[in-house]
Amino acid sequence: MRKRSLALLLMCAVLALAASQKKLPKPGWNLFSKQQDIDLGREYAKQVEKQMYVVPNKELTDYVNRVGMRLVRQGQLEDYPYYFKVVQEDSINAFALPGGPMYIHTGLIKAAENEAQLAGVLAHELSHVVLRHGTHQATKSQFLQLGAILMSGAAGRGGGLTGPLAQLGIGLGANSYLLSFSRGMESEADLLGSYTMAKAGYNPIELARFFEKLEAQKGGQNSLVARFLSDHPTPGNRIQAIEDQLPYMPRGPFDAQAGDLKQAQAIVAKLAPRQKSAHSDGPDQVGSAPSTPPQTSPASQSAVEMPVINLSGRLKTYQSGEVTFSYPEEWQVGTGSDQSLTITDSGGKVGDAIGYGILLYRVPAQNGRIQLARETASYLKGLASSNPNVRTESDPVELTAGGSPSLITRLTSASPYRQQRETDIVLTIDRGTEMLVFIFVSPSAQLQVLEQSFKKISQSVRFSS
Ligand code: ZN
Repeated sequence: MRKRSLALLLMCAVLALAASQKKLPKPGWNLFSKQQDIDLGREYAKQVEKQMYVVPNKELTDYVNRVGMRLVRQGQLEDYPYYFKVVQEDSINAFALPGGPMYIHTGLIKAAENEAQLAGVLAHELSHVVLRHGTHQATKSQFLQLGAILMSGAAGRGGGLTGPLAQLGIGLGANSYLLSFSRGMESEADLLGSYTMAKAGYNPIELARFFEKLEAQKGGQNSLVARFLSDHPTPGNRIQAIEDQLPYMPRGPFDAQAGDLKQAQAIVAKLAPRQKSAHSDGPDQVGSAPSTPPQTSPASQSAVEMPVINLSGRLKTYQSGEVTFSYPEEWQVGTGSDQSLTITDSGGKVGDAIGYGILLYRVPAQNGRIQLARETASYLKGLASSNPNVRTESDPVELTAGGSPSLITRLTSASPYRQQRETDIVLTIDRGTEMLVFIFVSPSAQLQVLEQSFKKISQSVRFSS
């Protein structure tokens, strides 16, 4: 009798334990294809690497890739084109973009007490990738508009997805759908992450310990951990939740002291300090309102709100001297000089600046004859030096305008409208002894409205001599 009740008790205990084993999470509803996750991650990775300093140390990069790929392979994570890079940032953080690219702050490498703790944060981030939390979240919040963008095959036209998505607020901005997650998603990433660690031979308890350490430092207003905890809001009992699952995970032997973390920390300690940039806290700091695209420099502080731009698509003709081109019928040719001209409407004028429209300049050759590539470069350099917010988005592309050799270059800069960036498409045309420069100006958020017109205008340029 005594024996039987003991067996019963044991059975109940086993059942109770079994009941509390959590099912490993699976990706949720998503309008993006897996390939679109990958494409999107690649595009955003380019932006990240413009904004943050990727440490060019092979030993360090190899090390984080070793740890990361051990988790991917032995942890049996689904295959994505994962890669791991170290960015020089003091805050304790790491973030993964959809489809695999991961960036690890030097602050995290410094703060980890052993390789398992570093691996734990990586496993947590990898879980966000595998569970496709970024695009799942974007899908849930913006599915109506997203459907149209994804179905139109925006990515297939070579235009990239980030432009159209930025207009829905799906970028790397603060509270981005792609990088800041809900508490439910955090629980899922902790769960899959700790199982992944255990399978890969890292003691999952170290992830709980690392979180514990961050939580303890939070009270001290430690700004270096604040970012991590705001991107990964604690589901409350995250440490307990991991500990509860330990009985169901592969068991060691785990060797917390194994690995080359100490060497990696020595490399990090020797890095020369870098100038603090405005965005030193990660890509999340860049960009502001959800309606602005991902930004490479601060948005405008202007008080003027961006108007909604409407164009019928109908054009009228401008002709002066030897040059003829079409421009939107809603716009007016301003009183410019022979050397420069502005075409816009009342909404496009913001004080002395142009928020959208066409600027036309004539630039005389430096040495009698235009050398287009060189003089375009020096013109753009001049533009950039007069406005520190100018960023070149693309290398010059060769084409012809009105039969003359031309280059087209895409820039971004601060818009005169509040909290906006602007895109400037610069067309430079070789006219022998002078260079004709068209600058097509648009708030980046409304480039879609204007880009077709800009294209038509540049194709309409004719020279009578
Ligand atoms: Zn997270």
